[in-house]
Amino acid sequence: MAARILVVDDILPNIKLLEAKLTSDYYDVITAMNGEEALQKAKEEKPDLILLDIMMPGMDGFEVCTRLKQDPNIAHIPVVMVTALTDTQDRVKGLECGADDFLSKPVNDTALMSRVRSLIRLKMTIDEWRTREMTATQLGVIQESSVSIHEEIEPSNVLLVEDMDFEVKKIKDTIESKGHTLQTVSTGLEALKYVNDHAYDLLIISLNLENEDGIRLCSHLRSNEKTRNTPIIMIGGDEDIERIARGLELGAHDYIVRPIDRNELIARMTTQVRRKHFQERLKSSYEVSLSMALTDTLTGLYNRRYLEVHLQRLVENNKKVGKTIGVIYTDIDHFKDVNDTYGHNVGDEVLKIFSKRLMENLRGFDLVARLGGEEFVAILPDTDEKTAHIIAERLRRSIMDESFSTTHAEPLTITTSIGGVIIEGGESPTITQILERADAQLYLAKSNGRNTVFFESTGQIDPHQYESQSGSISKDSES
Ligand code: GH3
Ligand code: MG
Ligand code: MG
Repeated sequence: MAARILVVDDILPNIKLLEAKLTSDYYDVITAMNGEEALQKAKEEKPDLILLDIMMPGMDGFEVCTRLKQDPNIAHIPVVMVTALTDTQDRVKGLECGADDFLSKPVNDTALMSRVRSLIRLKMTIDEWRTREMTATQLGVIQESSVSIHEEIEPSNVLLVEDMDFEVKKIKDTIESKGHTLQTVSTGLEALKYVNDHAYDLLIISLNLENEDGIRLCSHLRSNEKTRNTPIIMIGGDEDIERIARGLELGAHDYIVRPIDRNELIARMTTQVRRKHFQERLKSSYEVSLSMALTDTLTGLYNRRYLEVHLQRLVENNKKVGKTIGVIYTDIDHFKDVNDTYGHNVGDEVLKIFSKRLMENLRGFDLVARLGGEEFVAILPDTDEKTAHIIAERLRRSIMDESFSTTHAEPLTITTSIGGVIIEGGESPTITQILERADAQLYLAKSNGRNTVFFESTGQIDPHQYESQSGSISKDSES
């Protein structure tokens, strides 16, 4: 789907001009001719970018921007102020209202397209994190986002690549006066060395370095593992506009045109650092949800998806090395009665205790997953038939021997039935086949009175056979 851009201007020819340029570059354009209409369309249509005129009768661009940025549902949409004014005070005021960028009329094509492209790219990234985070929130995995794009930024580390002393002094004074830390280097080589040893929140790169091309440096830093996600602000003169556009295409985030306005520098820095932190926080909550997507929320055990991937890898590996794998399928006996008698909550508690006991009676390198309901599978890597029998028997007994204490019922006696198979080294069954084979044994255990263990090769396991050996197999990962 094409990105959608809301163009806001009170003068129709201005709208038509931008609309023509953007449409020819395959963007979808929505238009509004005053502040009220702009706010309404932003809310209804949720565009990917807003190009906003400053000078409008009634509500001006500053006010529209302030209001956009106060609404949490649309505050993340980038806003570009389009203005005939070149006064830096207006730029600063716009940035303070939350605008992300500026374009001067008449709009320079290269600047327009580069800037639109880079802001839309950024918006897509943020959208993706937001979507993932929403899924995670729906699943109850994480809290509703506490991440806001408009928070004060914390003291940050900035790396400046600049070889003109008076510019260095001006930038350093400005940035340090706000409590941030600035490291200055004068060559790209030094810059690459510093980024390897330190973490920076922002990189500022001069495009007018004596002996080198700042654009090339931007490109290096963009592909460098350490700085791939670090915002870059370029500094150049009016004559560098073509190179700036190239830099934006290569992934730099923003630029400042000399002479540097201190307020503009701070405002742009704040915007970039804020956004970096925003993305990082979204990413970390996503990673939490990712791990949750592979585990079962009730018991904390791995889920079926994880089990399948894990078992697949083990089987493939074992085909080569010729080791055996034990697979144990276990299902709580008459669990429906627990729910029916004591309620679902007690049932849940039983499932948790059951899971804990499974974990305790397996070894550290065994893997146990909840397949769903009251069915669990344990994978025992590099395990021979006899060891698998001992472990399965030990599991069965550990469930039966100690009653389950829950909050809303007297201690319950729970039993479980177990079916087991051994996958030989040369075998290469599918995961479905393995689970079906183990399930067939489980069925035999169920139909032969429950609270018992069946293995494919040996049939029912005599509970007395391994009684004395139960302790001979370690329960921790050292075994
Ligand atoms: P059997 O001995 O043959 O295994 O009988 P059973 O009652 O254990 O098996 P059945 O498959 O008839 O019932 C399983 C029950 O488990 C039915 C379902 O409501 C319940 N159940 C499934 N998932 C959960 C859960 O997450 N929490 C609780 N409390 N109950 C669950
Ligand atoms: Mg059951
Ligand atoms: Mg069942």
